[in-house]
Amino acid sequence: MTDTGSLLAEVVGPEHVLTEGSVPAEYGHDESLTAVARAPAYVVRPATAAEVSGVVAVAAAQRIPVTARGSGTGLCGACVPHADGIVLSFERMDRVLEIDTANHVAVVQPGVTLAELDRQTASSGLCYPVRPGGQSASVGGTIATNAGGMHAVRHGVTRHHVLGVEAVLASGEIVRSGGKFVKTSTGYDLTQLLVGSEGTLALVTEAVLRLKPRAGHSATVLAPFATAGEISQAVPRLLAGGLDPLALEYVDMLTMAATTAERDLALGIPEQVRRTSLGYLVVVLEERSAERLEADVEGLGEQLLTLGAADVYVLPAAAARRLIEARERAFWAAKAAGADEVVDIVVPRASLPRLLAEADVIARDSGSVITGCGHAGDGNVHLAVFQPDEDLRDSVLRRLFRAGTALGGAISGEHGIGTAKKRYFLDLEDPAKVELMRRIKHAFDPDGILNPDVLFD
Ligand SMILES: Cc1cc2nc3c(=O)[nH]c(=O)nc-3n(C[C@H](O)[C@H](O)[C@H](O)COP(=O)(O)OP(=O)(O)OC[C@H]3O[C@@H](n4cnc5c(N)ncnc54)[C@H](O)[C@@H]3O)c2cc1C
Repeated sequence: MTDTGSLLAEVVGPEHVLTEGSVPAEYGHDESLTAVARAPAYVVRPATAAEVSGVVAVAAAQRIPVTARGSGTGLCGACVPHADGIVLSFERMDRVLEIDTANHVAVVQPGVTLAELDRQTASSGLCYPVRPGGQSASVGGTIATNAGGMHAVRHGVTRHHVLGVEAVLASGEIVRSGGKFVKTSTGYDLTQLLVGSEGTLALVTEAVLRLKPRAGHSATVLAPFATAGEISQAVPRLLAGGLDPLALEYVDMLTMAATTAERDLALGIPEQVRRTSLGYLVVVLEERSAERLEADVEGLGEQLLTLGAADVYVLPAAAARRLIEARERAFWAAKAAGADEVVDIVVPRASLPRLLAEADVIARDSGSVITGCGHAGDGNVHLAVFQPDEDLRDSVLRRLFRAGTALGGAISGEHGIGTAKKRYFLDLEDPAKVELMRRIKHAFDPDGILNPDVLFD
């Protein structure tokens, strides 16, 4: 073993250091369609914050880049390591430390997956409501990307549920910020600064998460519409009417066909309606009482028909569950169909019709196919771009991102920038803002060892 390998082995134990040649390929990539995979020089698997601190201290002394890794489900290449660097995998720090029912919080290690957290909170009647498609995602990864997902329309995104963190700084120091309380007015909010920082400012070694009561009754309503424009116009009106759905998803015709075919899922929609519907709204309602739910479903059905839905289907529980699973697998369906990139632009939700119309124009002009689905209630669309020519695709993406930002939106609503979208971020964001972010990065990590290839060059 090299000197560095020996120093790392002293910190975490030799069995938890993998070196060049013995590093499995999975540590070199995430699920991004375009980020270039890179094998790291070392993978280390610490078990405690003290060990994380020790690893970072070794890296800091030798100025070796460190890339944190959760479950590797990210979609923007944010955990792709530096070729000479260390992957610090949180896979052994995967415990739920406490479920505090009095304060409605969970204290967890960063490597715990959302699926495991859901399993462990179930008996308490509480839940962690953040639900990005990949339930195998880790809490640390979701904090670092500020993950969103289907339930954001009601519950908000990761940022709204992280009350406190313990984190290891680039110097190796361990700091704590926030705690089991929902408010603080005590200097800069370091907890929130770390949320969404993609492993570039500090490594989260523990998190205090806000939990919500589980609702006992839910219903899933599917509404086909003749055009995508009608759907996106219906969304702000539904919400303005007081609807408080758990999920409000838009799925275009191609994506619905691909995802339901992949899952062999028949939804009972007559052929004639299917042929004439270019898009669907999927609305999930959740209530604590069956009576309230029934009334809400009835009201929603009437509203949807008024807003132009061709019909309204209240799905049986099993079909509803499978449809949501199929929707969560839309990324895999797009990948299997040969998508070249998937983007997650966000705009004010009332501007969604204009973004989708602009995407149509860009697709036609460039001879590309742009199809998708999205968290319509959040104005966040996941567009799969089919354009194999790299230069042409670059101009398509640039035009899409410009269209989104011109509408008052942002390049990424929830997947992050990582390495895959860095050039667009650096070119299209306000330079003054990027420069301020650089200075924040420098204050946290003066030698640039934490995920140095992400966000900035
Ligand atoms: C099929 C599919 C559907 C998806 N749907 C959604 C969706 O609807 N909404 C959504 O938001 N996302 C979605 N994602 C993306 C992905 O699940 C999220 O980005 C998730 O937050 C990544 O978590 P992870 O544990 O896999 O992180 P990783 O991919 O391992 O890492 C992501 C980032 O977090 C950093 N990181 C990891 N752990 C730590 C830590 N402890 N401290 C500091 N930094 C850390 C990494 O360095 C990297 O920058 C989807 C992904 C897939 C594959």
